Amino acid sequence: MAVRLLLVVAVVLAGCTGTSIPSAEPAAEEPVVTATVAPITDLVRQVLGDRGELHGLVPDGVDSHTYEPRPSDAQMLGQADLFVANGLFLEEPTLRLAEANLPAGSATVTLADETISRDEWAFDFSFPAEQGVPNPHLWLDVRHAMAYVELIRDGLAEVDPAGGDVYIDNASRYLSQLEQLDAAIGQAIDTIPGENRKLVTYHDSWPYFGRRYDIAVVAAVQPSDFAEPSAREVRTIIDQVRDEQVPAVFGSEVFPTEVVRVIAEEAGATYVEELSDDELPGAPGDPEHSYVGMMVANVRTMVTNLGGDPAALDAVTPS
Ligand SMILES: [Zn+2]
Repeated sequence: MAVRLLLVVAVVLAGCTGTSIPSAEPAAEEPVVTATVAPITDLVRQVLGDRGELHGLVPDGVDSHTYEPRPSDAQMLGQADLFVANGLFLEEPTLRLAEANLPAGSATVTLADETISRDEWAFDFSFPAEQGVPNPHLWLDVRHAMAYVELIRDGLAEVDPAGGDVYIDNASRYLSQLEQLDAAIGQAIDTIPGENRKLVTYHDSWPYFGRRYDIAVVAAVQPSDFAEPSAREVRTIIDQVRDEQVPAVFGSEVFPTEVVRVIAEEAGATYVEELSDDELPGAPGDPEHSYVGMMVANVRTMVTNLGGDPAALDAVTPS
C-alpha cells in the first residue's frame, strides 16, 4: 500500500502545482516480496530482477511439507508488500501466519490454486484422494511454472505499478527460457526407451511432470503421513519394481532414507541417490542454483539412469 499512497500523493502534488513530476524525485518505493519454497522464490527473483527486496522463508534442504514457520518469518511477512506461496495445502501454517502478519494493503498470490482447476488435481500414492489433499508439486511441469511466472508478474505489477514494464520485460525474457527448457525436457524424455519410461521415487513429486512429459509414475515410496513406509509397503514396491522391470529408483534430497537403496537392491534396479523438488543445486549465486538448474539436473539424472540421452538439455543454460 505504501507504494500506492506515494503515487497518489505525487499525482495530487503534480495536480496542485500544474507541473509534471520532476524526474529528480526519488523513485517510488520498491516492493518487499516474501516467498515460500526455494524454486518459487527463484521464479520471483527472475521476474523481480534487481528491483525491490526478496525473502525466501523455507530454508534450502528443509522439508516444505511439514515446515513450521519461525518467529523471524512472522517479521518478514510483516514487511511484505507481496506474499507468494504455492498453495494447494503445501504451506498451511505459513499461510495462517501470513494472514495474521501481512500489512494492510499487501497482496497474496497462491500460485497452484490459480493455475489449475479442481478436476486437474492429482491424487496418488502419498496424496490419496480420501484425504482430500492433492499433490501440490505443480512446478515440476515447466508449463505450470510458466503460469506461475505470469501470476508473479501480475502480482508484482499490482503492488508496484511503477515497475510494471520492468516485470513485463523480465518475465517475457524468462518465459522464453522456460519454453526452451520445456521443449528440451520433452526431447530428452523422448529418448528413454518406451519400456523404461517409468518413475519410482521416494518423494511423490512427479505426477504433473509425468503427465506433461509422458513418463509413468509407477510408485512413490513415502507414505501420506511422511513417516517411513511399513515393511509390507516396502515389499509391495519391491515386487512392483521387479515385475515392471523398472531400471532405476530415485531417492529425494530432502528425505534421506535407506529404504530406497533396499528396494533397488532387492528388486535388481539401480539406486539413484536423489531427485529434487525443493532444493536448488549448487550454492547461492551459482547459475545452477535456480529453478532451471534444478530441472536440468533432475532430468539429466532421470534420463541417464533410464537409458536415454540427455543431450537436448545441453542447449539450456541456467542464468
Ligand atoms: Zn515435495
